[in-house]
Amino acid sequence: MRLIQIPLLRDNYGYLLVCEKTKHAAIVDPSEADPVLRRIEQEQVTLTAILNTHHHRDHTGGNEGLLKRHKVAVYGHKSDSVRVPGMTNAVDEGDEIQIGELRGKVFFVPGHTTGHVAYLFDNNLFCGDTLFTAGCGRLFEGTPEQMHASLSKLMALPDNTKVYCGHEYTESNLRFAMTVEPKNPKLVARFERVQGMRTRGLSTVPATLQEEKETNPFLRWDSKEIEASVQSTMPGIRLNPVSVFAAVRKMKDAF
Ligand SMILES: [Zn+2]
Repeated sequence: MRLIQIPLLRDNYGYLLVCEKTKHAAIVDPSEADPVLRRIEQEQVTLTAILNTHHHRDHTGGNEGLLKRHKVAVYGHKSDSVRVPGMTNAVDEGDEIQIGELRGKVFFVPGHTTGHVAYLFDNNLFCGDTLFTAGCGRLFEGTPEQMHASLSKLMALPDNTKVYCGHEYTESNLRFAMTVEPKNPKLVARFERVQGMRTRGLSTVPATLQEEKETNPFLRWDSKEIEASVQSTMPGIRLNPVSVFAAVRKMKDAF
Protein backbone atom coordinates (compact mmCIF):
# COMPACT_ATOMS: atom_id res chain seq x y z
CA MET A 1 0.00 0.00 0.00
CA ARG A 2 1.16 3.51 -0.78
CA LEU A 3 -0.09 6.31 1.43
CA ILE A 4 -0.12 9.93 0.32
CA GLN A 5 -0.86 12.67 2.83
CA ILE A 6 -2.60 15.65 1.20
CA PRO A 7 -2.80 18.96 3.10
CA LEU A 8 -6.28 20.43 2.66
CA LEU A 9 -7.95 23.70 3.71
CA ARG A 10 -5.99 25.40 6.48
CA ASP A 11 -4.92 22.50 8.67
CA ASN A 12 -6.76 19.38 7.48
CA TYR A 13 -5.19 16.24 6.08
CA GLY A 14 -6.72 13.94 3.49
CA TYR A 15 -5.09 10.59 2.87
CA LEU A 16 -4.90 8.83 -0.47
CA LEU A 17 -4.50 5.06 -0.08
CA VAL A 18 -3.23 3.33 -3.18
CA CYS A 19 -3.23 -0.39 -3.93
CA GLU A 20 0.01 -0.71 -5.90
CA LYS A 21 -1.15 -3.87 -7.62
CA THR A 22 -4.43 -2.61 -9.08
CA LYS A 23 -3.76 1.17 -8.90
CA HIS A 24 -7.12 1.53 -7.21
CA ALA A 25 -7.22 4.28 -4.62
CA ALA A 26 -9.38 5.60 -1.79
CA ILE A 27 -9.37 9.06 -0.28
CA VAL A 28 -9.95 9.45 3.44
CA ASP A 29 -11.79 12.66 4.41
CA PRO A 30 -11.61 14.87 1.32
CA SER A 31 -12.19 18.35 2.75
CA GLU A 32 -12.10 19.73 -0.78
CA ALA A 33 -12.04 18.15 -4.22
CA ASP A 34 -9.51 19.99 -6.39
CA PRO A 35 -6.23 19.11 -4.63
CA VAL A 36 -7.39 15.49 -4.46
CA LEU A 37 -8.33 15.44 -8.17
CA ARG A 38 -4.92 16.86 -9.09
CA ARG A 39 -3.13 14.26 -7.02
CA ILE A 40 -5.13 11.37 -8.47
CA GLU A 41 -4.15 12.54 -11.94
CA GLN A 42 -0.47 12.96 -11.02
CA GLU A 43 -0.31 9.53 -9.49
CA GLN A 44 -2.29 7.95 -12.34
CA VAL A 45 -4.52 5.98 -10.04
CA THR A 46 -8.21 5.14 -10.24
CA LEU A 47 -10.30 6.53 -7.41
CA THR A 48 -12.77 3.89 -6.29
CA ALA A 49 -13.85 5.07 -2.85
CA ILE A 50 -14.25 7.95 -0.45
CA LEU A 51 -13.84 6.97 3.20
CA ASN A 52 -15.44 9.53 5.49
CA THR A 53 -14.73 9.34 9.20
CA HIS A 54 -17.61 11.66 10.09
CA HIS A 55 -20.04 14.15 8.63
CA HIS A 56 -18.31 17.47 9.39
CA ARG A 57 -17.90 19.67 6.34
CA ASP A 58 -14.12 19.88 6.70
CA HIS A 59 -14.03 16.10 6.20
CA THR A 60 -16.73 15.69 3.54
CA GLY A 61 -16.65 19.02 1.66
CA GLY A 62 -14.96 17.43 -1.35
CA ASN A 63 -17.39 14.53 -1.74
CA GLU A 64 -19.67 16.24 -4.26
CA GLY A 65 -16.84 17.61 -6.39
CA LEU A 66 -15.18 14.21 -6.53
CA LEU A 67 -18.45 12.45 -7.35
CA LYS A 68 -19.00 14.79 -10.29
CA ARG A 69 -15.82 13.44 -11.86
CA HIS A 70 -15.67 9.88 -10.51
CA LYS A 71 -18.47 7.44 -9.76
CA VAL A 72 -17.14 6.01 -6.53
CA ALA A 73 -18.42 4.37 -3.38
CA VAL A 74 -18.81 6.64 -0.35
CA TYR A 75 -18.32 5.02 3.06
CA GLY A 76 -19.58 6.39 6.35
CA HIS A 77 -21.22 5.18 9.53
CA LYS A 78 -24.66 3.66 9.05
CA SER A 79 -26.27 6.35 11.23
CA ASP A 80 -24.95 9.14 8.98
CA SER A 81 -26.40 8.32 5.55
CA VAL A 82 -28.21 11.67 5.52
CA ARG A 83 -25.33 13.79 6.79
CA VAL A 84 -22.49 12.33 4.67
CA PRO A 85 -22.96 13.69 1.11
CA GLY A 86 -23.41 10.93 -1.48
CA MET A 87 -23.02 8.08 1.00
CA THR A 88 -23.50 4.67 -0.64
CA ASN A 89 -21.87 2.21 1.77
CA ALA A 90 -23.04 2.19 5.37
CA VAL A 91 -20.49 0.66 7.72
CA ASP A 92 -20.30 -0.21 11.39
CA GLU A 93 -17.94 -1.70 13.98
CA GLY A 94 -16.03 -4.72 12.68
CA ASP A 95 -16.93 -4.30 9.00
CA GLU A 96 -14.26 -5.01 6.44
CA ILE A 97 -13.75 -2.93 3.33
CA GLN A 98 -11.66 -3.54 0.26
CA ILE A 99 -9.80 -1.09 -1.98
CA GLY A 100 -8.18 -2.96 -4.85
CA GLU A 101 -6.46 -5.70 -2.88
CA LEU A 102 -6.12 -3.66 0.28
CA ARG A 103 -8.25 -4.74 3.17
CA GLY A 104 -9.35 -2.36 5.90
CA LYS A 105 -11.30 -2.66 9.11
CA VAL A 106 -13.90 -0.31 10.56
CA PHE A 107 -14.09 0.85 14.18
CA PHE A 108 -17.12 2.69 15.52
CA VAL A 109 -15.75 5.49 17.69
CA PRO A 110 -18.51 7.96 18.68
CA GLY A 111 -17.88 10.98 20.90
CA HIS A 112 -16.82 13.85 18.62
CA THR A 113 -19.96 13.06 16.61
CA THR A 114 -22.47 10.27 17.12
CA GLY A 115 -21.58 8.59 13.81
CA HIS A 116 -17.80 8.70 13.87
CA VAL A 117 -15.78 5.78 12.50
CA ALA A 118 -12.06 5.02 12.12
CA TYR A 119 -10.46 2.92 9.38
CA LEU A 120 -7.48 0.62 9.90
CA PHE A 121 -5.33 -0.59 6.98
CA ASP A 122 -2.39 -2.72 8.17
CA ASN A 123 -1.04 -0.64 11.05
CA ASN A 124 -2.28 2.68 9.66
CA LEU A 125 -5.18 4.13 11.62
CA PHE A 126 -7.29 6.87 10.07
CA CYS A 127 -9.15 8.25 13.03
CA GLY A 128 -10.51 11.62 11.86
CA ASP A 129 -11.33 13.86 14.81
CA THR A 130 -11.57 11.14 17.48
CA LEU A 131 -7.90 10.72 18.40
CA PHE A 132 -5.57 13.57 17.47
CA THR A 133 -1.82 13.51 17.78
CA ALA A 134 -1.44 14.71 21.38
CA GLY A 135 -5.15 15.45 21.67
CA CYS A 136 -8.70 14.38 20.94
CA GLY A 137 -11.74 15.90 19.26
CA ARG A 138 -14.25 18.06 21.05
CA LEU A 139 -17.39 16.35 22.30
CA PHE A 140 -19.85 18.03 19.94
CA GLU A 141 -22.44 15.25 19.96
CA GLY A 142 -21.26 12.53 22.30
CA THR A 143 -20.65 12.08 26.02
CA PRO A 144 -17.36 11.73 27.90
CA GLU A 145 -18.29 8.08 28.54
CA GLN A 146 -18.63 7.44 24.80
CA MET A 147 -15.39 9.20 23.93
CA HIS A 148 -13.51 7.45 26.72
CA ALA A 149 -14.77 4.10 25.40
CA SER A 150 -13.85 5.02 21.83
CA LEU A 151 -10.33 6.11 22.79
CA SER A 152 -9.92 2.97 24.91
CA LYS A 153 -10.87 0.88 21.89
CA LEU A 154 -8.18 2.56 19.78
CA MET A 155 -5.61 2.25 22.58
CA ALA A 156 -6.04 -1.52 22.45
CA LEU A 157 -4.41 -1.56 18.99
CA PRO A 158 -0.69 -2.44 18.82
CA ASP A 159 1.79 0.21 20.00
CA ASN A 160 3.33 0.52 16.54
CA THR A 161 0.00 1.59 15.02
CA LYS A 162 0.42 4.86 13.13
CA VAL A 163 -2.10 7.53 14.01
CA TYR A 164 -3.23 9.50 10.95
CA CYS A 165 -5.66 12.08 12.27
CA GLY A 166 -7.72 14.74 10.52
CA HIS A 167 -5.78 17.87 11.49
CA GLU A 168 -2.33 19.31 12.10
CA TYR A 169 -3.00 20.27 15.71
CA THR A 170 -0.06 18.60 17.46
CA GLU A 171 1.81 21.71 18.55
CA SER A 172 -1.17 23.47 20.15
CA ASN A 173 -2.31 20.18 21.68
CA LEU A 174 1.10 19.74 23.27
CA ARG A 175 1.07 23.31 24.55
CA PHE A 176 -2.06 22.37 26.49
CA ALA A 177 -0.64 18.99 27.55
CA MET A 178 2.32 20.82 29.11
CA THR A 179 -0.09 22.61 31.45
CA VAL A 180 -1.50 19.38 32.90
CA GLU A 181 1.56 17.11 32.92
CA PRO A 182 4.66 19.32 32.75
CA LYS A 183 6.86 16.82 34.61
CA ASN A 184 6.39 14.07 32.01
CA PRO A 185 9.86 13.92 30.39
CA LYS A 186 8.56 12.24 27.23
CA LEU A 187 6.00 15.00 26.83
CA VAL A 188 8.64 17.71 27.27
CA ALA A 189 10.85 16.04 24.67
CA ARG A 190 7.97 15.65 22.22
CA PHE A 191 6.95 19.28 22.61
CA GLU A 192 10.49 20.43 21.77
CA ARG A 193 10.72 18.07 18.82
CA VAL A 194 7.33 19.09 17.42
CA GLN A 195 8.06 22.80 17.78
CA GLY A 196 11.24 22.26 15.77
CA MET A 197 9.34 20.38 13.07
CA ARG A 198 6.67 23.06 12.79
CA THR A 199 9.31 25.78 12.52
CA ARG A 200 10.61 23.91 9.49
CA GLY A 201 7.07 23.54 8.13
CA LEU A 202 7.03 19.75 8.52
CA SER A 203 3.98 17.60 9.19
CA THR A 204 3.88 16.09 12.67
CA VAL A 205 1.35 13.42 11.58
CA PRO A 206 1.50 10.45 11.91
CA ALA A 207 2.63 9.57 15.41
CA THR A 208 2.72 6.07 16.85
CA LEU A 209 0.11 4.89 19.28
CA GLN A 210 2.91 4.26 21.77
CA GLU A 211 3.90 7.92 21.63
CA GLU A 212 0.26 8.88 22.16
CA LYS A 213 -0.05 6.61 25.20
CA GLU A 214 3.08 8.19 26.66
CA THR A 215 2.24 11.85 26.04
CA ASN A 216 -1.40 12.44 25.04
CA PRO A 217 -3.24 13.79 28.12
CA PHE A 218 -6.55 12.42 26.82
CA LEU A 219 -5.21 8.86 27.06
CA ARG A 220 -3.47 9.34 30.40
CA TRP A 221 -6.35 9.13 32.87
CA ASP A 222 -4.08 6.97 35.07
CA SER A 223 -1.32 9.58 35.38
CA LYS A 224 -0.90 10.78 38.96
CA GLU A 225 0.31 14.15 37.75
CA ILE A 226 -2.77 14.62 35.56
CA GLU A 227 -5.03 13.51 38.43
CA ALA A 228 -3.40 16.16 40.62
CA SER A 229 -3.86 18.83 37.92
CA VAL A 230 -7.52 17.91 37.63
CA GLN A 231 -7.97 17.98 41.40
CA SER A 232 -6.41 21.41 41.74
CA THR A 233 -8.72 22.80 39.03
CA MET A 234 -11.82 20.95 40.25
CA PRO A 235 -11.50 20.40 44.00
CA GLY A 236 -13.72 17.62 45.32
CA ILE A 237 -13.93 15.76 42.00
CA ARG A 238 -14.22 12.00 42.38
CA LEU A 239 -11.40 10.51 40.38
CA ASN A 240 -12.00 7.69 37.96
CA PRO A 241 -10.85 7.22 34.37
CA VAL A 242 -13.97 8.79 32.84
CA SER A 243 -14.11 11.74 35.25
CA VAL A 244 -10.42 12.49 34.71
CA PHE A 245 -10.88 12.30 30.94
CA ALA A 246 -13.96 14.54 31.10
CA ALA A 247 -12.16 17.07 33.29
CA VAL A 248 -9.13 17.23 30.98
CA ARG A 249 -11.47 17.70 28.01
CA LYS A 250 -13.21 20.56 29.85
CA MET A 251 -9.88 22.17 30.71
CA LYS A 252 -8.80 21.97 27.05
CA ASP A 253 -12.12 23.49 25.91
CA ALA A 254 -11.36 26.50 28.12
CA PHE A 255 -7.64 26.66 27.23
ZN1 LIG B 1 -15.00 17.08 13.09
